Amino acid sequence: MALITKKPRGTEDLLPRDSYRWQFVEKIFHEEAEAYGYSEIRTPVFEHTELFERGVGNTTDVVQKEMYTFVTKGGDSITLRPEGTAGAARALLEHGLFNDPLPVKNYYLTSCYRYEKPQAGRLREFHQFGMECYGTKDPAADAELITAAKAIFDRLQIRDLRLEINSIGCPTCRAEYHKALTEYFSAYKDELCDDCKDRLERNPMRLLDCKVEHDHKLAEGAPTVLDYLCDECRDHFDGVKAYLDANGVEYTVNPKIVRGLDYYTKTVFEFITDSIGAQGTVCGGGRYDGLIEELGGNPLPALGFAAGIERLLLTLDAQGIVIPEPNRFDLFIGHMGDQAHLKASALTAALRTAGIKAGFDIVGRGLRAQMKFADKIGAKYSVVLGDNEIAEGKAKLKNMKSGEQTEISLEPEAFINSFTQIKLSEEFAE
Ligand code: ATP
Ligand code: MG
Repeated sequence: MALITKKPRGTEDLLPRDSYRWQFVEKIFHEEAEAYGYSEIRTPVFEHTELFERGVGNTTDVVQKEMYTFVTKGGDSITLRPEGTAGAARALLEHGLFNDPLPVKNYYLTSCYRYEKPQAGRLREFHQFGMECYGTKDPAADAELITAAKAIFDRLQIRDLRLEINSIGCPTCRAEYHKALTEYFSAYKDELCDDCKDRLERNPMRLLDCKVEHDHKLAEGAPTVLDYLCDECRDHFDGVKAYLDANGVEYTVNPKIVRGLDYYTKTVFEFITDSIGAQGTVCGGGRYDGLIEELGGNPLPALGFAAGIERLLLTLDAQGIVIPEPNRFDLFIGHMGDQAHLKASALTAALRTAGIKAGFDIVGRGLRAQMKFADKIGAKYSVVLGDNEIAEGKAKLKNMKSGEQTEISLEPEAFINSFTQIKLSEEFAE
């Protein structure tokens, strides 16, 4: 039978030798989210298709072109989640989380699925880290969310991220703006790409987000949303800026940022890098006060962001930021003879219980091959057990790098104590 060795286009395997990189960034996500009072939420990888049609929006590229949708054997239309917000909001409604003291703060770390043209920083299966905050209209909340995102990128030591913010108003003031945009783009109707001709009818603000060069150029001359904000939206945007200033978070106002999803209101923002080419938006977010109502709930203001983990990792690489590789093996216990093999097995188990990364031979190698293996896997220390060592209850602990040897008791508790001390003092001396 032919070997199946090709993964689907636009997907990636995470190999054991690289997984520490993901674990490193994930640990920072968990820690920073918790520092900002967020708790993790996990929702299904698939949902009813209607959830995304309503929660992401029928006029978006995601819903119109990018969803992995299929009909189950039972006849239901199911979609693999293209983003994290809709599922998290559905769960909030289903479990009545809005009854908890407000604001409710949830974060997620999930895989997402979009049928897109794969290229650097654009995959069909990718991963997002996101934070969602419900139950507050206060601009201090918008600024807090943006500050949290920045804290994460700072901890990752990313250097060139710029924060661009905008306000796209509320349904009231946006109606006027839509009119102005439609008027402006209608004059160029014949020059627009087919998608934008459609956008002109359905959702003219989406035109500003078009990636086709000519349309992008036309968008530069389009009316700016900031000229159309109502008093409430203008005050809110001023508030967000004031709190960002107070927090010492630098930003530029970019009135062309509209975000790809339909449910945004007021604040929108992106963190962008120039280090990884065209797919430079590593994080996008904003406020979506209408989302919960759109999904059938009572009105509840909401805001959040999602960051693309692959793009963050690409940025770290591009900027030469090294993620520390963990030491996989502290100690290898070699053996000669059956008695020593039993002892190596028991001692290794005891050491592992004490949190020491120990190993011994489980593939039937001779002693020379065992020690070669220990060297290959980068064990820092080794011990060799034979009949003599078993009889005397002690052995020589060898530092694999310096060759230095120290006598050590084979009684597990004594071994653990001495080993821990030696390791600490030698690490300190390094
Ligand atoms: P883009 O304009 O690059 O298509 P988007 O507006 O569709 O992005 P969002 O829906 O806001 O992106 O998703 C949030 C983040 O998820 C993006 O900023 C990006 O970092 C990441 N992301 C989105 N789509 C992909 C993808 N296909 N592959 C990898 N990462 C992605
Ligand atoms: Mg997209």
